[in-house]
Amino acid sequence: MSVLSSPHFHDEAKAFEFLESVVWADGVTCPHCGIVGGRAYDLSGVRSKPSKKNPEGVVRHGLKKCGECRKQFTVKVGTVFEHARMPLHKMLQAVHLMVSSKKGISAHQLSRVLEVQYKSAWFLAHRIREAMRSGDLAVPFGSGGGAVEVDETYIGHKKDALPMRGGWGHKHTVLALVDRESGKSKWFHIESAKFSNIHPIVLDNIHREARLMTDEARVYKPIGKRFAEHGTTLHGGHTYVDPNDRTIHTNTVEGAFSIFKRGMKGIYQHCGEQHLHRYLAEFEFRYNNRASLGCNDTGRSVAALTGIIGKRLTYAQPRALAIYQ
Ligand SMILES: [Zn+2]
Repeated sequence: MSVLSSPHFHDEAKAFEFLESVVWADGVTCPHCGIVGGRAYDLSGVRSKPSKKNPEGVVRHGLKKCGECRKQFTVKVGTVFEHARMPLHKMLQAVHLMVSSKKGISAHQLSRVLEVQYKSAWFLAHRIREAMRSGDLAVPFGSGGGAVEVDETYIGHKKDALPMRGGWGHKHTVLALVDRESGKSKWFHIESAKFSNIHPIVLDNIHREARLMTDEARVYKPIGKRFAEHGTTLHGGHTYVDPNDRTIHTNTVEGAFSIFKRGMKGIYQHCGEQHLHRYLAEFEFRYNNRASLGCNDTGRSVAALTGIIGKRLTYAQPRALAIYQ
């Protein structure tokens, strides 16, 4: 039986049960009064008021009533799915497709597979990206003296910017850190690769006892002194691993960038600058929950769904901009 034949991908009641088991792992939580594991009455199956379109009303799946504050809610309240009108089982399919496609999935393809409008697929994909967005690092990278690789890459084309000769000023700049020990990464969209943009991120997210690994770019020189060690390789001289110490390199972060770039080129051809941070969240999520770290597609789905909590999103901003890319 394939994963996609699981009932929660096809049956709305089962979809609610599945999401409840993930979101309310510690007991039903009322989003109105915040009581965890409090009394809640199950009203699932109750029909909504009759309307012209549905004279018999529609079945309200997953409906609960809080025994404390008497208010009604479903598991979607307070999550990125709250105001989405698409059936939940389709949204769970979308989560599965997004976490299991190594380079991502386009909104066009999502709309075909789910049989929903392109615009709905586009918004849904952004809701899921928001769920994938990680919080702050609990422990800075390189705690315990491990190696942390830092590098920047350039992607796309800034709106109205002219191509620059011998520079990257017309492209968007992405900075990534990879903790070699845990295999986890953290990605940032920065305005440009200058000192004042890079330094605070490196200092905030990497422990001073870490071994910092970068290329020879001048921007890393002053900051390297703040760490236990600063290993650099001369990419200009085509040296990618230090011959005297083969642990000095930035090959891991460059490998992560190559997946990102192939995905962005093939799937998300025209990503607007205002959305780039969400695409970064998506690639960071898949990289940090990849198979070689022991994560399978189902585990990755659950991890993404855990991230829907407390990230209510109505997408007023992208809608106002009306750029569906
Ligand atoms: Zn309540």
